[in-house]
Amino acid sequence: MGVLELLLPPACAGCGRFGHLVCRECLEGFRAASAPDDRFMASDPGTVVGDALELAITAFAHDGTLRRALQRLKYGGSGRIAVPLARAAAPALVALTRVCGPLPLVPVPVHSARLNQRGYNQAALLADSLGSATRLPVLDILERGRATVRQHGLGKAARLQNLRGAFALRESVRIPPGIILVDDILTTSATLESCAQVLRDAGAAAVYGFAIAREV
Ligand SMILES: [Zn+2]
Repeated sequence: MGVLELLLPPACAGCGRFGHLVCRECLEGFRAASAPDDRFMASDPGTVVGDALELAITAFAHDGTLRRALQRLKYGGSGRIAVPLARAAAPALVALTRVCGPLPLVPVPVHSARLNQRGYNQAALLADSLGSATRLPVLDILERGRATVRQHGLGKAARLQNLRGAFALRESVRIPPGIILVDDILTTSATLESCAQVLRDAGAAAVYGFAIAREV
């Protein structure tokens, strides 16, 4: 958190008005990525069915106010904004747990260089807040061993190649049989797939994914 953020009242990431990190009007403007029920269809833009990944869903479309809020979380040093974003996204996570059951949340890790630069892992902050909102445990068991080139502009196959060997398990962790991976943005699902593969290789029986926003 920056010094300015401590001194000033928060300005809404959407409309800029002071008072809330994201004001009520802007929160209500988030566009749902999936139909608001638990009948997830592969054709639904908010739903991804993968190989190592059983099913991933997203709460919102990555546009408008939510895009600005996630940019502030990722690049603006505003870790606190994870709390209202996770709270807004929690009903979609609850819908996923109606399919897969109440599983522990595992945040997608960032590389340590980025962690030092940013001061936090945005996916871990989101997972913590989602865990509080839904009473699901959070297990920070993955790490990012290798720095990767920026994924922006790459297709899924290139991303999977880029991410090969990027994720690993922390030492001496026990793998629960079922897991929900948590990330901020889902684009091609290559990141979730790569993490799911590591967890499946380590013995997880079923890995699901949840992201706040779907790049559309
Ligand atoms: Zn606002």
